[in-house]
Amino acid sequence: MSEIIDLGQGISLIDACYISEDVAAVYLLREGNQVAIIETGTAHSVIDIEKLLITQNLDFSHVKYIITTHVHLDHAGGAGSLMQRCENASLVVHPRGARHLIDPSKLIAGTIAVYGEEKFVRLYGEIVPVDEMRVIEASDGFEVDLSGRKLKFLDTPGHARHHFCVWDQNSGSMFTGDTFGLSYRDFDTPGQVFIFPTTTPVQFDPDEMIKSIDRIMDYQPQRIMLTHFGAISPSIAVVNELKSGVKMMTDLAIAYHDKEDAQMLIEELMMENLLVSLAARGIENLEAARKKLANDVNLNTQGLIFWQKRLNQS
Ligand SMILES: [Zn+2]
Repeated sequence: MSEIIDLGQGISLIDACYISEDVAAVYLLREGNQVAIIETGTAHSVIDIEKLLITQNLDFSHVKYIITTHVHLDHAGGAGSLMQRCENASLVVHPRGARHLIDPSKLIAGTIAVYGEEKFVRLYGEIVPVDEMRVIEASDGFEVDLSGRKLKFLDTPGHARHHFCVWDQNSGSMFTGDTFGLSYRDFDTPGQVFIFPTTTPVQFDPDEMIKSIDRIMDYQPQRIMLTHFGAISPSIAVVNELKSGVKMMTDLAIAYHDKEDAQMLIEELMMENLLVSLAARGIENLEAARKKLANDVNLNTQGLIFWQKRLNQS
């Protein structure tokens, strides 16, 4: 069974075991006998979610809300499969993402375009459509209630235009999906976390991302619950590192997007930059770090080049 981490205040994390361990999280939030699941992982995660519910003397019937921060498939790929099992649940999704979970054909085609068909099937399994009648579209400021515990949805574009964050005032936790970047626990050093943005295709917008980061911080969250991966404390140093990562990556894109081998060139320079930061804080196994970061660096570069092409067309 996948790792489960008890984060206190009714919040647990399940490792979705997406690509490898400690990459993508599914969060389970419990208040009384009601449960919200934030991020579904893929169809492969359903069985682990069931096991966690059982350890808490609960089952799928106690799940009231299934929430996906945005419709990229590492976050929402399991939504349809999970909704089939959780018959009392509503799916809460951004208004711009809802139709893609009701009819996932475009999402599937788009993801196959990024990953290829063979890898798609291995990573995601079956993508099941969600019944339209069971979907709640949460626009900015919308709230749901879990046994008296309020969850508030904030429209936070930057990574994607169909992205919201979820504010749990009760615990001071902000569930940020991909808006507040990526930070892997392998790279923690005493008192420090390593964080960088995700600029995945096809809706990356650096100005919106910075605004969303500031908006998240306006809530003064105690903890940021990252989908990739886990809980961090958002110190000023963390916010600054995240923002300077946005600048580093957009600078690379502006300088090199129109070169013939732009993808390779930007990937190399981005990886180099990240590894230098890791080395500076004392991470020794840089080959393992390179491996861990390879997928993100590849996707980030694709997203950055796409962003530049779109800007230059308009
Ligand atoms: Zn993601």
